[in-house]
Amino acid sequence: MVKRDYYEILGVQKNASKEDIKKVYRKLALKYHPDKNPDKKAEERFKEISEAYAVLYDDEKRKMYDRYGHAGIDQRYSSEDIFRGVDFGDIFRGMGSNFGFGFDDIFERFFGHQSRYTRGRSQTPLGRDLRYDMQISLEDAFKGLTTEITVPRTEVCDTCKGNGAKPGTTPQQCTQCHGNGQLRVSRQTAFGMFTQVTACPKCQGQGTIIAEKCPSCHGHGIVEKTRQIEITIPKGIEDSSQLRLTGQGEQVARGRNGDLYIVVHLREHPQYKRQGTDLYQTITVTFPQAVLGAKIQIPTLHGPEKIRIPEGTESGDLIRIKNKGMPHLRRNSYGDLYIQFHISTPKHISHTTRKIIEDLDHELQKS
Ligand SMILES: [Zn+2]
Ligand SMILES: [Zn+2]
Repeated sequence: MVKRDYYEILGVQKNASKEDIKKVYRKLALKYHPDKNPDKKAEERFKEISEAYAVLYDDEKRKMYDRYGHAGIDQRYSSEDIFRGVDFGDIFRGMGSNFGFGFDDIFERFFGHQSRYTRGRSQTPLGRDLRYDMQISLEDAFKGLTTEITVPRTEVCDTCKGNGAKPGTTPQQCTQCHGNGQLRVSRQTAFGMFTQVTACPKCQGQGTIIAEKCPSCHGHGIVEKTRQIEITIPKGIEDSSQLRLTGQGEQVARGRNGDLYIVVHLREHPQYKRQGTDLYQTITVTFPQAVLGAKIQIPTLHGPEKIRIPEGTESGDLIRIKNKGMPHLRRNSYGDLYIQFHISTPKHISHTTRKIIEDLDHELQKS
């Protein structure tokens, strides 16, 4: 894909000031933020304007771009590096909106994972994401389902609220690293001064020392729990769909919870084959029904349904019943139900039946 010109994307002049660029970006971003526009196009547009902003608002990157165009940026920065140092929080602070406008939120939206820069910068511990696989029936997918699942996970200790100290006591600042959790060791060598940063051995990088440990979590601040979590599966869900429950993954003390991903698998159904929102079903009919046509009632996921077997139906013939298939996800409409006829041949017949069929045979030979 050919990248558009960054100035053009934001609709600003080549000599636009940083303040102007920021003003324009803020306006566009509010318009295209994915929380306001759930469609894929808006998200792409949001990423596009954010990238243009990230480059043009940064003096160094803008200079490279002005001189060498996209090549100057793309050869120097990875698509993730372009966003390094951008303070999205500064842009959206005080906008009175409750969007996920932090750098982390935006970065994660673009790249599907945490930025290693923010991880390093803030040192916020992150809880692990959890995955839960579950099997549901076609009927569940048809109606939608609210159920409880049992998830084993770590949670912040209730007794000490995660600080690891016995109630009534507080963790003390580590005297060796003065609460930094890190020690800088500088060494003079022939090549110059080297500074090495290591985790403080006294507090194991925590910055605090717990004199009396919390009895519930033994000072870890977290405990193993088995949690019942209510989940809602929307009607019309497809096989292998993934639902994300933000913050319902593993918890960490003084950090951000991981997410919980529910992967939904649909069990095979004895009667229906599903293709998108359409369902396929085989119905067995008798020879007279196939020849003469008939009205019969069949069970469907929507309830009993009267259908007409057309006169002269052959085995394998297909009819469509509109709107009797699976629901469209998050829409109030349905796919179709296809019925394939199978003509049954009687195996054990009475003397009378045999006579009738022989007569029929004679009759057919004549015509
Ligand atoms: Zn505790
Ligand atoms: Zn320390």
